[in-house]
Amino acid sequence: MYYFDHCASTPPHEEVIRTLAEVMAKHYANPASLHRSGMEAGKLLDRARALIADLFHTEKKDWIFTSGATESNNIAIIGAARQYKSRGNHIVTTAIEHPSVYDTFKGLEREGFRVTYLPVNKEGILSVSQLEEVLTDDTILVSVMHVNNETGSIQPLAEIGELLRKRRGTIFHVDGVQSVGKLPIDLTGWGIDLFSASAHKINGPRGTGLLYVRQGIQLESIYKGGGQERGLRPGTENVAAIVASAKAFRMAIESQAERYERMHMLRSRLIACIEQLPELVLNGGENQLTAAPHIVSFSYPGMKPEVIVHMLEKHRIIASTKSACSSKDDKPSRVLEAMGLGRARAASGIRISFGDEHGEVELEWLCRMLPMVIQKLRPLERKESR
Ligand code: PLP
Repeated sequence: MYYFDHCASTPPHEEVIRTLAEVMAKHYANPASLHRSGMEAGKLLDRARALIADLFHTEKKDWIFTSGATESNNIAIIGAARQYKSRGNHIVTTAIEHPSVYDTFKGLEREGFRVTYLPVNKEGILSVSQLEEVLTDDTILVSVMHVNNETGSIQPLAEIGELLRKRRGTIFHVDGVQSVGKLPIDLTGWGIDLFSASAHKINGPRGTGLLYVRQGIQLESIYKGGGQERGLRPGTENVAAIVASAKAFRMAIESQAERYERMHMLRSRLIACIEQLPELVLNGGENQLTAAPHIVSFSYPGMKPEVIVHMLEKHRIIASTKSACSSKDDKPSRVLEAMGLGRARAASGIRISFGDEHGEVELEWLCRMLPMVIQKLRPLERKESR
């Protein structure tokens, strides 16, 4: 099988699996315990945090470990909104965020916050001047994802950070799940206050995430518990998964530039194949500067995406429709609709996402099979929805 669903999850690196097993077997003591075994586990936790801090040119005390980016996003967004409620009631995000951000804002809206969901253009990019226009003295939080998980569109974080830096009091949260290891990230340079990441998107273990909380930012904890992770994510830390995930983050970030080049080449060649097929239409990603290297989104208007995915699978290609979290509902993609691509395209989106194991061989298979799959699908096309 050729696995092209790296945005949903990635195969763990051998070294990650080995580390996970070793630490799990040897260091099972509670890292908060005062005996020697506990202290050893605590030291491993500390070292993992120091490594993460180093990779992002930040400090150890800026980082907390979570169970994944969904949890990081919830802790950050709900925590910031509730903490700074007395300063203002307005919070801002985009119409194309991952459900762990979008639905969290919906929840805060029900709590009484005024929410602005910023639109995006056909390439999936927000306008910084439009963001500037909606900001008021009441705006306490802006949350914008770095790379969109369905289309790969890249948001102008440096410009947003510059705008927000001028307005003290507005917190800047970034969901960086799909950009870590794919693009350079400058947390301090871009003025990011809160940043979420996930280990299983970069060949680490599932169920492990990071949250960066810049010093000086307070969050109201959404949990009650034992006080671990500064009280923001109380509960005994999963030391083995954290140590293994720190390794995965190191491998991903240290090889980011090389990965960008390789994936960008794969992406350009896949796009050239797609452009040969008149039934298919690319969703965003025309401009290389605003498109992540590992994601290609296209639609076959008039065709049910699950039919395409199953036909691809028959040809040993694993791809996905929309994001993994929402692929089981049969609604059109909220992201593609927000990009103004129309219902037929939004209802037939397919995502190919590349990973570290991909090269010439995998790309060749993809470009050879895609025309065959489309040919087999043609008789099933529903003309009325084109
Ligand atoms: N944010 C984005 C952009 C994602 O792509 C995902 C996963 O699909 C998440 C958040 C949630 O990450 P996790 O699976 O670690 O909870």
